[in-house]
Amino acid sequence: MNLWASTARHAVFRLENLAFALATISAKPALAESRPLHRGFPVAPMRAFPLLAFGLFLAARLAGAPAAISSPPPDERFKADLLVIIAHPDDETLIAGYLARAVLDDHRRVAVVCTTRGNAGQNLVGFEQAASLAEIREAEARAALTAIGIRNVWFLRAPDTPAPEVHDVLRSLGAWNHGQILGELVRFIRLTRPTVVITMLPDVVAGENHEDHQAAGVIATEAFDLAGDPTKLPEQVATPEDRLFYGNLMEGLRPWQPQKLYFFTDASHLDFVKGQGPEYSTTVVSPSQHVSYARLAATEASFHRTQGDTGPPGEKALATGDLSFYEPPVPFVLGKSPVGGTPTGDVFEGTVARPFAFAAVRGFQPQSSPKPAIELGGPWAFYADFWPAHNLDRMPQLLAPELGVGGGQNFPVPLLLHNGTDQVRVVTVRVQLPPGWTEVKGSGVFAVAAHDSSPVQARLIAPRTTKSEWQQITWIAETEGQPAGSATLRVLVGGQ
Ligand SMILES: [Zn+2]
Repeated sequence: MNLWASTARHAVFRLENLAFALATISAKPALAESRPLHRGFPVAPMRAFPLLAFGLFLAARLAGAPAAISSPPPDERFKADLLVIIAHPDDETLIAGYLARAVLDDHRRVAVVCTTRGNAGQNLVGFEQAASLAEIREAEARAALTAIGIRNVWFLRAPDTPAPEVHDVLRSLGAWNHGQILGELVRFIRLTRPTVVITMLPDVVAGENHEDHQAAGVIATEAFDLAGDPTKLPEQVATPEDRLFYGNLMEGLRPWQPQKLYFFTDASHLDFVKGQGPEYSTTVVSPSQHVSYARLAATEASFHRTQGDTGPPGEKALATGDLSFYEPPVPFVLGKSPVGGTPTGDVFEGTVARPFAFAAVRGFQPQSSPKPAIELGGPWAFYADFWPAHNLDRMPQLLAPELGVGGGQNFPVPLLLHNGTDQVRVVTVRVQLPPGWTEVKGSGVFAVAAHDSSPVQARLIAPRTTKSEWQQITWIAETEGQPAGSATLRVLVGGQ
């Protein structure tokens, strides 16, 4: 804000200077009125000009800033009430029933940022793949979103990460060039100035659990917390040198603090989201469109024709009238709300129309107590630090560590051994497996250096089963013959 106050002061100063200069320039011929006329212009009218210019100078002095401010307001064409941040073209189909309501009947301005262009996916329509598929996916997504009234859509061109054996958010953050994508997302929050941000759940879940989805949620959370701080990416909020001329390097955006952050999930089970956020019915008929939000969601999905789990089901639902796939309510999880409100209230509950003050988060706080001798590593260890650093205080209680794997799947599980003592510590690890499981590696005896952590990559083979069921795996640590903690993972076998 200070930047713009200073710009306004600058503008008044410049107007005063202009008026003063006019007075000075026009005074010269008046003083030299005995000289010959220049190109036939009469001297007499010039006598009045110094008075006019001086009057302008005085008016600028007395009237103050308002009439003279030359800093235009933010571009209203891109103002959003709600900014949706997703990873792939078609991720928005999970919440399209709500988005249709928000735009078409609640008259919310909705914008979408998609971090990738879906270049690693299948193509049911033709041979086009990779970079060519990205062009098609972007066009499909724009058409889909336009069908429910959303036209401000941007793509960040992070690479679509091919599905690995087990999704790990840290892989996507690496593949995406995390810092670059974060800077771009901060820019889009400052450009669109959303009241509410909706993104994908930053957590490991049994379900599709795509690491790109999690990465979108992680970076969106970081951008939510940075965009209101003018010292972060300051070139974005610095006043441009001269906006009416060329080659400006400073971007002229305003710092912006969104007020609420919500998540949606690609989990195959939704028991854990009950009561954690609002739920929106899709069987309700849209007052403006005279069809259900489920039908609008099917219409939106039908444009993603290259994607087997999105476009064809949408087309089929529209053709047959069987909209059951789109009729479950759309649930959200409240990430955080600097403006308060209840978890299950409307996403705009408690929000204010004016710009909201920067809401600093606590940031990373080292644990005062020593870490346990063993814990789940990789994404689980990352999220255990990430959630509290970003004030996502509901997340640690949302669901216990879980993973979905296929029947018979051979998959890795990262573990971390910690030693907070001054001596090398010998840690014995053994696993407790349900019947039918096979341990490829993980159990053993490990030496952990003083005040250090040591990764252990366990690997298991799930039992071949045709039905989907939850099973529990526990790794137990011992040091010097004494129990030293355990790490438990619940696994939905056949639930990937
Ligand atoms: Zn996706």
